[in-house]
Amino acid sequence: MTATADIPKLELHLHLEGAAPPKFIQSLAKEKGVDLSGIFDEQGNYKYDGFVDFLRVYEAACTVLTGPEEFYKLTKAVLEHSAAQGVIYTEAFVSPDFCGNNDVGAWKEYMAAMEQAATEAEATDGIILRGILTCIRHEGPDTAKLAAKCAQETAGDWLVGFGMGGNEMVHRQADFKYAFDMAAEAGLHLTTHAGEWGGAKEVRDAVFDLGVERIGHGVMCIEDMDLVEHLAETGVVLEVCPGSNVALGVSDTWAGHPIERLRAEGVKVTVSTDDPPFFHTTMCREYDMLAETFGWDDARFAQINRTAAEAAFCDDKTRARVLKRLES
Ligand SMILES: [Zn+2]
Repeated sequence: MTATADIPKLELHLHLEGAAPPKFIQSLAKEKGVDLSGIFDEQGNYKYDGFVDFLRVYEAACTVLTGPEEFYKLTKAVLEHSAAQGVIYTEAFVSPDFCGNNDVGAWKEYMAAMEQAATEAEATDGIILRGILTCIRHEGPDTAKLAAKCAQETAGDWLVGFGMGGNEMVHRQADFKYAFDMAAEAGLHLTTHAGEWGGAKEVRDAVFDLGVERIGHGVMCIEDMDLVEHLAETGVVLEVCPGSNVALGVSDTWAGHPIERLRAEGVKVTVSTDDPPFFHTTMCREYDMLAETFGWDDARFAQINRTAAEAAFCDDKTRARVLKRLES
């Protein structure tokens, strides 16, 4: 089998702030005189207890990302790390909640900074980045509309999708239909977190109420085999993040993770890291664990990455470039 780092990879589910290396956040905190010591353990890794606490730590880390310049540096740091993992194309979730508090003018400046960093990283490392603007579910439907407005104003070659993250246990997918429709009208592709915590019903709601093409996680659909069949038939793609699921306890073990069963049922699955330093993972570790646990080999990984390329939200010209690199 090819060395894991040498497999060209696509990643479709990565939160930009959630990919911030702890050292990067610590040095910004020091620079700004902010005390974030409570969110790190003695080894300097992010420290939290369970999913809701994870969200708290995540948002605390984001407080030092105060302007476009910080997001420029963050994007550079994240892409450098991804490129070293053999990632050739990645889509990152970016949120105007953390970038100018959903103000359209401010958001444009933040996005320009991220896009600039992406252009530079592509020139030096060959890695391609596209953005998916996300609203945050626990901030509610009205705030989501503000995010959708930012998405409408900046949809284009770089900002290619609209999605939703945050706490799945509050509100319903359907409550956000207005925001998702706004984004769809602007030509953006749609994805939403569903079926990470909220059971198969969340996945069902995401597909039928919001009409998304991809689902963030979606793994709990395994509780409803009719739905699994529907996903397989219609080609809805799951952005599966096994290491994240094991770290947060969505799945008790790697062996018990449903990714292989879903794949065997014909569901289109892809592999991503979600918030890698929070879950002590990398793309290479995910691949190593999948190889070890389920015997996935070069051919399987090639298939997974082709699926991801076909499901990527970029334009077809970019997709053709990515597919060509997968073949070479
Ligand atoms: Zn996620």
